[in-house]
Amino acid sequence: MGERIYNFSAGPAMMPESVLARAAAEMLDWNGSGMSVMEMSHRSKTYAAIFEDVERSLREVMEIPDSHRVLFLQGGATLQFSMVPINLLPRTGRADYAITGEFSKKAFQEGRKVGEVRAAADLSGENFCRIPAQSELALDAGAAYFHYCMNNTIFGTKWPYLPETGDVPLACDMSSCILSEPVDVSRFGLIYAGAQKNMGPAGLTVVILREDLAGAAPASTPGLLDYAALIKSGSMLNTPPTYGVYLLGLVLDWVRSQGGLTAMRQHNLAKAAVLYDALDGSRLFKPSADKGSRSMMNVTFFTGDPELDGRFVKEAAAAGLVTLKGHRAVGGMRASIYNAMPMEGVEKLAAFMREFEKRC
Ligand SMILES: *Cc1c(COP(=O)(O)O)cnc(C)c1O
Repeated sequence: MGERIYNFSAGPAMMPESVLARAAAEMLDWNGSGMSVMEMSHRSKTYAAIFEDVERSLREVMEIPDSHRVLFLQGGATLQFSMVPINLLPRTGRADYAITGEFSKKAFQEGRKVGEVRAAADLSGENFCRIPAQSELALDAGAAYFHYCMNNTIFGTKWPYLPETGDVPLACDMSSCILSEPVDVSRFGLIYAGAQKNMGPAGLTVVILREDLAGAAPASTPGLLDYAALIKSGSMLNTPPTYGVYLLGLVLDWVRSQGGLTAMRQHNLAKAAVLYDALDGSRLFKPSADKGSRSMMNVTFFTGDPELDGRFVKEAAAAGLVTLKGHRAVGGMRASIYNAMPMEGVEKLAAFMREFEKRC
């Protein structure tokens, strides 16, 4: 077997090595069943037990209250950009969006196709380098929901606070920060996340929804896009992403073995600090996010010279530190350091940055 390398991809991203090893060990015969989880009918008793276990585990790890339902869906976070307005907008006919990056902008554009949505904040004029303060949010008390993206994967910013929106439910894209730290789920009307950053493989989308918010979609809504119908069928209106749900279960076991979300947060803060300290102490590299809005999952930086950036990315890859190229919307570099990125990977990157700077 070849060496595992440090992969700083924004997603699909690194998985904990022990999770991959366990999946490999269980691949041909899950728990004496004589088959792979991949081969099981989603309606079988054996698979139903796995599915229920994973939901129970997610509920425990995230402390999801009984008021909220969990859905395991397909379609990625991007389909939620449409499902959220289709299902929630009819409640009052208007919704607020905070535009703080590429994904929240796409969510806003999809919302627009469905009905009356407003930008409660729009940071595009500042190249999304920061998160707006609470006082900057132009909130509509009659909005059906306030949509925002907690961690902006592309720009490397994160909301440092939970927005206060009174009775207006929060609808939040947590794709790139879910399971990275504890969140008070009771404060949210809806949380969604594609799995491929912190939860498992692409193809699984997790939705956590306050149950009373479901049921407002128009009668013409396709069943697969209707939260109420999905809740009623237990996410089994059709075949759910069975293997992805199983892998999420393994990831949750791993999160628990690390000490749960409080320990995850400590670990993630420590990893991010290593990189931000390196950036703050550098004369060559500059962080692209403002200090008060920094993400602990996606660290974005640049030298100011695209050619030098390209050289850095290439030489880092040769040193076993791969996928550091920034998103095309920002340029520069991006180190995605989700839960599964070990501290050694981050330390190696910081050391490589210092060494590169000396040579330049
Ligand atoms: C990756 C990502 C998405 C897109 O997810 P898909 O699963 O590809 O649809 C949306 N929002 C955020 C914050 C992301 O990080």
